[in-house]
Amino acid sequence: MRKGIPKSLVEQPLSRRDFLGAAGGAGFGLCASLIAPGFARLSAESAGGMDMKLNTNESRGSTGWVSDERYLRHTLGQRHPESPERLRAILRQFKEGGLEQAVVPIMPEADPLPYIRMVHSEDHIEKVAQQAHDEAICRLAVSGALSAVDAVCAGEVKNAFCAVRPPGHHAANNGEFGFCFYNNVAIAARYAQRQHQLSKILIVDWDYHHGDGTEWAFYEDPSVLTFSTHALHAFPGTGAADKIGRGPGEGFNLNVPLPRGAGDRDILRAFDERLIPAAEDFRPDMILISAGFDARQGDPLGDFTITDAGFAKLTELVMSLAATYSESRMVSILEGGYNTEGLALAVDAHVRGLLGV
Ligand SMILES: [Zn+2]
Repeated sequence: MRKGIPKSLVEQPLSRRDFLGAAGGAGFGLCASLIAPGFARLSAESAGGMDMKLNTNESRGSTGWVSDERYLRHTLGQRHPESPERLRAILRQFKEGGLEQAVVPIMPEADPLPYIRMVHSEDHIEKVAQQAHDEAICRLAVSGALSAVDAVCAGEVKNAFCAVRPPGHHAANNGEFGFCFYNNVAIAARYAQRQHQLSKILIVDWDYHHGDGTEWAFYEDPSVLTFSTHALHAFPGTGAADKIGRGPGEGFNLNVPLPRGAGDRDILRAFDERLIPAAEDFRPDMILISAGFDARQGDPLGDFTITDAGFAKLTELVMSLAATYSESRMVSILEGGYNTEGLALAVDAHVRGLLGV
């Protein structure tokens, strides 16, 4: 049987019920090893005529949410697209949409500096101190990601979303780049390895822009598999498909550029054809998501047309990988997304996916 998500999911929009039903069906794509145990159970139940409530008993209260009012203090100047209003919109939707009652709050408490130093040079840290409006807030974003890793690894929650600013996936060792200061997701990967003895980390980056800083951090490292979908024709111009890693890291860096106007079908196909087989070979101990929502339709900095339902499907797909290989350990960290109201709705859809509701 062909591995991967059902062809029908790529070709046409399906409801979550259809997706899960198809996943459990004998004649469709998802291989047995990919179907999360919970998903398989749900399919069996639905086949028996039970109403499918999407795993709510198992997953209620099992998604962590990291945020902190201090993230609103960080600014890159008036009218800059990476504005506090992005997070304000997310927090408004979080309260009004009811997610606030459904998630487990996680405070950013972990000490990030030793782990920042595992990715960035002292020179870079000094540059951030000079460039950032408030370097402490940049550190606090890292801390949020690390605290989410702690909560997931301690079994307090199954997965977590970090509503943090500033974003991180462009940060390397050259000071601020692409609105990023410290590479939150890269540091979280190192933290999971060092602090929690998890060997292999998969980073999934669906931001519109290539996660060049993350690629840089692990380009020669086979213990971190990096997967990025992005626009090659946009900032920062990196992310060609032939950049596959170097030395021992060769084959552990997967770039899948998407065409202008790419939509749900394109990105789901990329995940189906490239991410799933790579994850099956890699068998990650934990999955981190660089969750950028500037790939969403209507974003002022992007030209992709991913819908909120598309992000929900990507979430389900990555969760099924986490359930199969990583004991469901997954932490998602906010990257871009500049249409503030659209960003808030996409985050809402993503976190509902994490909750399984
Ligand atoms: Zn971006």
